[in-house]
Amino acid sequence: MDEEYTLWIDFPRYSQEYLDGVECFLQKGFPIFGKGDEMQCPCRKCAKRLWLGRDSIYDHLICNGPSLVHVQWICEVAHTKLSDIDDFMDCETGKGFEDNLDDMFDCTGKGFENVNEGEQGPNKEAAKFYRHVREGKQPLYPGCTKFSRLSFMIRLYHLKCVHGITESAFGDLLGLMKDAFPNAVLPQSFIAAKNIIKDLGLDYQKIHACPNNCMLFWAENSDKEVCDNCGASRWVVQEKKGTAANSDPDKLIHKVPSKIMRYFPLKPRLQRLFMCKDYSKLMTWHDVAKKRREIKTSC
Ligand SMILES: [Zn+2]
Ligand SMILES: [Zn+2]
Repeated sequence: MDEEYTLWIDFPRYSQEYLDGVECFLQKGFPIFGKGDEMQCPCRKCAKRLWLGRDSIYDHLICNGPSLVHVQWICEVAHTKLSDIDDFMDCETGKGFEDNLDDMFDCTGKGFENVNEGEQGPNKEAAKFYRHVREGKQPLYPGCTKFSRLSFMIRLYHLKCVHGITESAFGDLLGLMKDAFPNAVLPQSFIAAKNIIKDLGLDYQKIHACPNNCMLFWAENSDKEVCDNCGASRWVVQEKKGTAANSDPDKLIHKVPSKIMRYFPLKPRLQRLFMCKDYSKLMTWHDVAKKRREIKTSC
């Protein structure tokens, strides 16, 4: 396999061997690294800085040749086994992350007995994570096969985020559901649900944004009141309901952010996913394939 690909990339660029190699690279590369109709072009001129369509990359790899820095990557992609692509695709597309939460958390159960729940630092975090997973794997109510406690709570929280349901509305809904379905094990309160989501690394942050989408009020801009670019205010001023007309005018208004971006930080998600043996194997696929190749070529 290895010999085969060092062969095609070293062939003249007009040869059938080279053309077939490029075709193979595009065929296997797009499902893994493509976004929509585009992928980073690894030609000598673009060197993965530009996202282009399939035909353009084909032309570039023939006209410009491959970027020397990316030759190895091109070869690896072109010679990925189809079964590896399927594994990788599951990981990339999130298949199993969204629709099969129970499966996602299921593998994390392995080995959690080694985690000392009393320890501090990362182990304490891990212990909390595994405890939520262990408890969350219980059925939502006795005999329920469709939802575990955890998958139901995550779905509910997801709806809250997508539809902007307020915290108090979420709490009231929880109360109503607990009343109506006493056998279902639901989180005690909104705060309890939020804490579990946070411990699982699935929480989001709110960042204020310019109403015209020019900038985020974040990092060095976190204290600014107006947009640097268009001058729009960060806030929408609303009159407070039920305040006496003769009170202090400043107390009659309250400011709400004109636009909020919900940001899902990647780091805690990755940390949690790496706690799971099966997922961490999929996530290090590229690195492992590279090392395997290095070992083979050095022999
Ligand atoms: Zn290019
Ligand atoms: Zn603006």
